[in-house]
Amino acid sequence: MLMIMTPSASPKDIFKVAEAKLRIAWEDGHESEYSFALLRRRCPCAVCTDEWTGKTLLDPTKIPDDIKADKVELVGNYALAFQFADGHSTGIYTFERLRAWCPCPGCARG
Ligand SMILES: [Zn+2]
Ligand SMILES: [Zn+2]
Repeated sequence: MLMIMTPSASPKDIFKVAEAKLRIAWEDGHESEYSFALLRRRCPCAVCTDEWTGKTLLDPTKIPDDIKADKVELVGNYALAFQFADGHSTGIYTFERLRAWCPCPGCARG
C-alpha cells in the first residue's frame, strides 16, 4: 500500500475573502478563515510577542477589528507574511501556527 504523506499544515489555496479576511484551504480539505485583526493581534514577531515566554506584548485593543492587510506574501514554503494596514509587517506566520489557530468550531476547543 502506497500512501503519500501530506502534512496537514500545508495549504492548497490561500485567498482573501473580504477586505479584512483571509481563507486558507488546507491539503487535507479543511478550510480556515481568519480575520486580519486576529492575525495582527497574534503577530509572532519579537516586538509583538515575547520570544521566550510567548506572551503577547502588544495591546490587542489598539488593533481595530476591521484592520486590513495590503499584502500577503509566501515565505519560503512554510509561512506567510502580511503587510498590515497599520504598517506592521515583521511577523512570520508559519502554516503550522496558522493551522493551530483555526478559529472554526471543530478546531477551537475550549
Ligand atoms: Zn509584530
Ligand atoms: Zn478548523
